[in-house]
Parts: sequence; structure tokens; C-alpha cells
Amino acid sequence: MSDILFAVAGVLVGLSFKGGMWLFLIPFAVVAAALAFMNRPRLAGNKTGSIPVVTRVARATGLSPAVSPDLRATFKDATEYNEPKSTLKVNQVWARADADVNKGFSDMLRCLKGIVPNVHSLLIFAPISSTEWAIRNFYNENAGQIATDVRLNENSGLVGQLMRSGVDRILEGDITSGKNLLYYLENPMIKSVAAVPMYDAQRNKMGAILIDSVYPNAFNENTIKAMSFMANTLFSFSHKSYLSAKNFIEQQQFSVLYRYQKNFFQTMTVKDIYRQMFEYVKENIPFDRLVIMAMDQANGNVGHVVYCEGMDAQQFLNKEFSLSDKGIFVLALLHNRPVERNFNSNFNEYIPRINDQEKRNMELRQLIVMPVPTESNAETAEIAICLESRFADRYQEHEKELLKAFAGVAGFALDRARKFEQGKDLAMRDGLTGLINHRTLHESLRTEKIRADRRKTNIGVLMMDIDHFKNVNDTYGHPVGDLVIKGIAGAISGEVRKELDVVARYGGEEFVVGLVDSSKEGMIETAERIRKAVGKLEFDVKRAQPLRVTVSIGAFLVTPEFADMKKAVNNADQALYKAKEGGRNQVIQYTEEV
Ligand code: GH3
Ligand code: MG
Ligand code: MG
Repeated sequence: MSDILFAVAGVLVGLSFKGGMWLFLIPFAVVAAALAFMNRPRLAGNKTGSIPVVTRVARATGLSPAVSPDLRATFKDATEYNEPKSTLKVNQVWARADADVNKGFSDMLRCLKGIVPNVHSLLIFAPISSTEWAIRNFYNENAGQIATDVRLNENSGLVGQLMRSGVDRILEGDITSGKNLLYYLENPMIKSVAAVPMYDAQRNKMGAILIDSVYPNAFNENTIKAMSFMANTLFSFSHKSYLSAKNFIEQQQFSVLYRYQKNFFQTMTVKDIYRQMFEYVKENIPFDRLVIMAMDQANGNVGHVVYCEGMDAQQFLNKEFSLSDKGIFVLALLHNRPVERNFNSNFNEYIPRINDQEKRNMELRQLIVMPVPTESNAETAEIAICLESRFADRYQEHEKELLKAFAGVAGFALDRARKFEQGKDLAMRDGLTGLINHRTLHESLRTEKIRADRRKTNIGVLMMDIDHFKNVNDTYGHPVGDLVIKGIAGAISGEVRKELDVVARYGGEEFVVGLVDSSKEGMIETAERIRKAVGKLEFDVKRAQPLRVTVSIGAFLVTPEFADMKKAVNNADQALYKAKEGGRNQVIQYTEEV
């Protein structure tokens, strides 16, 4: 079908150029050519074209202002620490759009060659920056003649004129022999040139089509008209191709984001959300170092690196920082603002990331810090995702946008998880002492028992009760009593292994401790240490003497063959009763006689 239309277009144009009276046929010829072009055979839908490599100039794909071409191919040979899984798809989409546009452009040039007689070369120029154009496609019998790395600006001779405002055509029929055309390696004695810009909908110049001939006066007004029509078709075709590629990428990113959002909202712990942030970035964005840093919940001025991967990761992992440190990551957190920096290769002053003591890595050339917005504190961010690359200008718009959208979702999920954790904490913990409560104690002891059985170890259970506590309340009042309870809770916690052992406020002035991986001697030793530590506490009650209290402790060792943890607590309680009977301020271990 397209072949027939191309032939029709060729015949019509041939006729129009032969006799003046056929000139009106040109618009029809162009329409036929355009139709042929649109009906041309396409790449199979699932075939991914190879990435077109323009080796000597940046890829000139900027025909449409709506898209940012993917520069990932430029970095393809230099392996990075993290090669994300999803990048490949973005690259493939761009590559396919590129191949599609290239194919279309080549077809169009061939079509133009067929309908305009005596053409030597045909070229399409496209912007590679805001001030320069480069060759995007060309048709020439002797391809070696074309200087593919030519860059044009407003001052580049004849063709460069097209970039100036007000110039909307070039039609030359008598180029003097000494005049060089920059796009040729050697000028093959070109005498005529015709060129028109490609415009977008706002009449911005988005490139140009050019034809030339070794014959003088080879082109005329009608050639310009035909070329202008073609330029419009070419532009809208490439614009649509890139736009649909962009839409497709956005759709992909949206679905990735949606999937993560779903994961996020099934996650209720803050720690898991940090982990998911880390995994998400790894899956979608390239980097040579990734740092996720978070402010500590308890202390608003201090934070830690919670995840780090890539170059010098070991020195950053778990690293503590304070908001007064002079690192660029920390400053971004402090001001709750995204930061982006490029360092060029002769940049020899190091910018500290967290603080001045860190190892100076001069290889990293770009960094991006994206604060995660959390609702609770607007002025200072609490979390930041920091990406670094060995390549300057590595990160592209779509990646920055994705990172930002992702940080927004993460912040929202994080707030939710925190509230949930706080709520859970309220139900699990005792408000006065911060220790776990009666109900949670039994859950914790059950969990510890399963672990102990697996490792065939014992659990020491201590039950303690403040001696003559009624007197404290009666003499000094309930508020002082509460202070004593709080002080004792602190003393107990200070004598056990915080991360391993279980400490609970069991009742009003009773505490239970579960000592994991314990022995008879170890258990009694710890109990004695607690008893002595409590005895040393002094409470200021505005009297001549500070208030001192003592505790009595009952102990019971849970061996692997003893299964019932409730009964274990009961046994410790019976031993405690004996300690009270025996005169208080002492430790008694449970025995059968007890
Ligand atoms: P013993 O040496 O036999 O343990 O004597 P005791 O006076 O401590 O007796 P008991 O353990 O039975 O006393 C419990 C008292 O602890 C009763 C109550 O007034 C007081 N108490 C319980 N919970 C709280 C609390 O949360 N705050 C204060 N201030 N007092 C409490
Ligand atoms: Mg009691
Ligand atoms: Mg008591």
C-alpha cells in the first residue's frame, strides 16, 4: 500500500516539475507521500530496536519539547554499583521510540529524494542543546561525505542562519565555489540549497530539513512549500512518538509506585518502611552509593544512617550524626530541602556528606538528596534518601520526579506506621515506667521460652515487690510513691541486658524479670545486684534524710523440661512470699519445700 502511494506521489511531483500548469498537483503529491509514510511497514510490536548510538555528538532526539531523551546509554559501558532492574525497560522504550522515529525520518527523506529531482543530500537537523543543532538523519549516496559530528549554532554559516529568529527558509541557487558547507567533510561543489525549519505548535523551531544539489537554481518556491509541509508532518510524527513513549514510561512508573504504595500500607513498622525505601530505590534508580539517614525518635537532634550501600558503605553504615554537623546530607535534612550537586573532574575540594571525619571520595561526581516529608515536623526533615553517582548529570528528570513522588508516599506511610507503633506501645507498655505490662509479659515470656527450648537454655524468672510500700504512700503521699516505682524500674533495667532480657511492671509495685540464657548462679547473682541497686537509691523527700527503700525477690529457674511459663511466674511469686516472711530485702530461690 505505501509503495503504491509513494509511486503516485512521485508521478504527481514529476508532472508538476515538468510543466508549470501541473504545479497545483504538488499539494496532492505531498498528501500522497504523507499517507504513504504513515502507512509504511512498522517494526513488529514486541521487537526492541537496538539503541541508536551517535558516537561523536550527543544524541539529537530533542525534536519534541515534551520529552527528555534518556542518556542512560551514554553510561552503558561504565558499570555502576547499582544497576536497577526497571531502568532497562525505560531504556528499551526510548530506544524503540528512537528507532521508530529514525525509521520514519529515513523513509521521509527517501520519499523527498524521489519527488524532488537532482537532489544530492538530504538532512534533518535536531537540537542537542538550547543553542546547538546536530544532524539527526541524512540521505546521501556516498555516506562517507557527511560530517556526522557537525554542530550548528546561529553563527555557523549558511545553515546556521535557520536558527535565527525571523529566518524561515533558505533558498540558494548560486553558491560560490569557495563557500564551504559545514556538514560536508569535503564540499562536493554544491550550488543549490533549500531548507526550512520544523516548528512546534507554539512556532518554536525544533530542527530543520535541508536538501542540496550540485546544479545551480535546482530548487524553487514550490520545493520550499513541499518541504514545509513535510517538516510539519515530521515534527508531529516524532512529537507523537516521543510523547507516547513518555506516557508509557510514566504509566510504568505509576504502576511501580502503586505497587510500592500497596506494600507500604501493609507495613506497620517504621523499620520495615526504611527497608522498603531502600529496596525501592535499588530497584529503580542507578547509583554508586545510596545512603538513607533518619533522625532518632527519642532525640530530635541526633540521627543515624539506617541503610548504606555502594562505595565506602561500611564507614557510613550506622554512623551517628547531629543536626549541627556540617555535611551536605545533614544540611538538606536540617532545611528540609532537596539538594542536587554536580562536581566536575577538576573539582578538588571535597564537600563532606555527613561530617568532616569521613573518608573523602573524590570519584563521586553527582549527588541528590531527597528529604522524605513527614507530617509531624515541617521545618526539619526526619529522613533523607541520598544518591550519588560517579557520573556528572547522571540523574534524569523522570528519575528525580519518581524519587520525589516516592518520597511523598514513603513519608505518608511512615507517619502512619509511627502512629500505629505509638498506639501499640500505649497498649503494651506501662505509662509510668515505660516497662511492658502484665499482659505483654506473658506474650514475651512465651516467645522467649520457644527460643530457649530451641537453644536448650534456661530462663531465670524473678518476681519482686517493694517492701512496706504502704508506709511510703502513707508517709509521703502517692506522688512520691510513684516516683519510687519509677526509680526502681530504672534500677532494675540498669542491671539486666536491655536488648535481651524481659522487664515488666507486673502490678502496682511488683516487677517481673525474665533472664534469658541464664543459670542458677547467674540468676541469683543478677537478683542480688538488683536488690543492692535498689537499696542504694535515694529519693529526695525534702526531709533531713533521703528516702530509701528495699525489695524482696523470689527466683525460679525455667529449665528446658519445664514448660509452663505461667506456673514459673507463680513459683517465683511463692519464693517472693518466703522472702517477705524471712524478713524482706532478700532473694529466695524457689524449691519444692517453698
Ligand atoms: P510488703 O512489704 O508486704 O510488700 O508491704 P507493702 O506495704 O508493700 O504491701 P503490699 O505489697 O501489699 O502493698 C501494695 C501497696 O502499693 C498498695 C498500694 O497503696 C501501693 N501501690 C500499688 N500501686 C501503686 C502505684 O501505682 N502508685 C503508688 N504510689 N502506690 C501504689
Ligand atoms: Mg505488693
Ligand atoms: Mg509491697
